[in-house]
Amino acid sequence: MRVCLLASGSRGNSTLIEVDGCRLLIDAGLSGIETERRLSTVGLAGEDLHGILVTHEHHDHVSGIGPLARRYNLPVYIDRQTHAALPKLGKIENLQYFSTGETFSVQNLVISPFSTTHDAVNPVGFTIQSNEGKIGFATDLGMPTRLVADQLKDCRVLVLEANHDEQMLQEGPYPWDLKQRISSRHGHLSNNQSCSLLEDICWSGLEALFLAHLSEENNCPDLTRKLFSKTVVDCGHAPEIIIGRQSQASFCFEASSAMVS
Ligand SMILES: [Zn+2]
Ligand SMILES: [Zn+2]
Repeated sequence: MRVCLLASGSRGNSTLIEVDGCRLLIDAGLSGIETERRLSTVGLAGEDLHGILVTHEHHDHVSGIGPLARRYNLPVYIDRQTHAALPKLGKIENLQYFSTGETFSVQNLVISPFSTTHDAVNPVGFTIQSNEGKIGFATDLGMPTRLVADQLKDCRVLVLEANHDEQMLQEGPYPWDLKQRISSRHGHLSNNQSCSLLEDICWSGLEALFLAHLSEENNCPDLTRKLFSKTVVDCGHAPEIIIGRQSQASFCFEASSAMVS
């Protein structure tokens, strides 16, 4: 199993997961060329991919989907309403509609899309289950609902949004209405909200925690790392903590096929 945040932040998001020989992108918010460049840093090329999963229609998650899907004839797994909200996506030969709350399979992986309260037409997070364990993916969350916490239990690898520090957001340069949108039930999770969610779902089998979609203006990676390190220690666990970055691919987490616990 390998997981790498190829890019993370408000200017582009894309995550590589590789499980049991199946390599998927979750979102493709960089250009096709830049996505391929970052894939090459983990030894992969576009033709090595088996599909793209789409969380929601915002620009920072979708701009590379059309070029990549067309260049490599990749299936795109997407909600029907989300697809309808992307009139500029262009023709995708292999569109696979999923329904939120219903699992679907890609090779040996069982994928479960679940709802989030972000301000998009039908935004989702995903869990990906296989005989190598469970990966949870939840960014652009809006608020940490009970449903999200339940979905993210028992993960071996977790990608969790930690968008902003509440004080930095309030005191920062954004206009008032944007501050309201980000901190609303339909915006992004603050570090503190994300830590509270993590307290509910942290367990001994969690091996890697990726922190994603950090704001470059309203967050600080060092502060975030400290806060989450303390949270996992307080919970009695010690997953590796990896911070997603905008300008380059993150550390690539690799786990053996056998689960630790
Ligand atoms: Zn979004
Ligand atoms: Zn986003």
